Amino acid sequence: MKIGAPKETAAGEARVALTPDSAGRLQKLGYECLVETGAGAAASITDAAYAAAGVTVVDSAKALWEQADVIIKVREPSMEEIDAAPAGKTLIGFIWPAAHEDLLERMRAKDMTVLAMDMVPRISRAQKMDALSSMANIAGYRAVIEAGNHFGRFFMGQMTAAGKVPPAKVLVVGAGVAGLAAIGTSVSLGAITMAFDVRPEVAEQIESMGAEFVFLDFDDGDDSQQTDGAETGGYAAPSSPEFREKQLEKFRELAPEIDIVITTALIPNRPAPELWTEDMVEAMKPGSVIVDLAAERGGNCTLTEADRKIVTDNGVTIIGYTDFPSRMATQSSNLYATNVRHMLDDLTPDKDGKPVIDMEDDVIRGALVCHAGEITWPPPPPKVR
Ligand code: NAD
Repeated sequence: MKIGAPKETAAGEARVALTPDSAGRLQKLGYECLVETGAGAAASITDAAYAAAGVTVVDSAKALWEQADVIIKVREPSMEEIDAAPAGKTLIGFIWPAAHEDLLERMRAKDMTVLAMDMVPRISRAQKMDALSSMANIAGYRAVIEAGNHFGRFFMGQMTAAGKVPPAKVLVVGAGVAGLAAIGTSVSLGAITMAFDVRPEVAEQIESMGAEFVFLDFDDGDDSQQTDGAETGGYAAPSSPEFREKQLEKFRELAPEIDIVITTALIPNRPAPELWTEDMVEAMKPGSVIVDLAAERGGNCTLTEADRKIVTDNGVTIIGYTDFPSRMATQSSNLYATNVRHMLDDLTPDKDGKPVIDMEDDVIRGALVCHAGEITWPPPPPKVR
């Protein structure tokens, strides 16, 4: 069968779902690969590089959708793309089904088989397909770089002939995938880095990276937890009002001395918890920077505006961009295309260029949102083994 990557249609999206390297691996699985002309340009992948890897470059999205049996994309398709698509295609990409029920229905009506990369369960076996993590890793790194770009000082301390330069103080809130990447980047640039998470089990990891874990003096009767909320499957549960108050109190204490705040706190299927409040922003020094990675879900900082950079009256820059992975399109495309290629690996057990939907496979079933004329989202809970 043929696999094809069209040029992304979402405004400003620079990533592409196929790279020359991933095409080579897909060919070994028995697939023929196609790409729309110019699809990799914004990620610095030329048509010539694809052609050299044996990929057929087609001259329009229409030709691509017609000729390919399996379409691989980064962003969810637009309604127009689905309307123009021939029926019966298989599609792999970010879909966010909870936010796109109309689109799901439209794809069902077109008899499509749709696998959502954002629905891949976060379990060990599926790590190689975990595009949310590979993109969050990039976002965490880029958040620190972006902060540095707006911060008028060095990250590291220096002794120079012109005087002593103090190191910057960085606070990372939320130490999941994006947070840990931000911590690693900040430490490597030489900043004094502190990090907070409601899951105490990340303390060791944070400290092993050379950062300081911000402990809360909160006694809920369980010595092993700094959180009162039970942790479920590697994700945090919402905190109690008492715990949250303690957390905010700690942040209030830190705000005047912190130069850069990177917030990444997330609880699945909920709006972002509000953790950095207006009074904390007011208490920060002029020239300080906040990068709010949770902007798309409303922001961890109450003043964040999605997709915007604002500067407050007291000179604090607040960045709410939601496209950090796209701002590093070459790197993100490489990692994302690898995640997609691994999913196709699992979908093609006989390496014969024919995808097989195995409903008994938890990972495939988890990602499958539309199949055989039905909407198959949400998936049933994973089987207990
Ligand atoms: P994750 O689930 O791995 O990590 C989230 C962390 O937040 C967890 O460690 C959790 O324990 C912690 N947390 C939850 N509530 C908290 C609280 N009250 N205080 C402190 N910590 C708390 O998620 P991730 O993959 O690292 O993604 C983090 C965020 O980055 C998400 O909001 C995601 O949507 C966003 N993201 C943004 C971009 C962008 O371009 N802006 C790109 C990718 C991801």
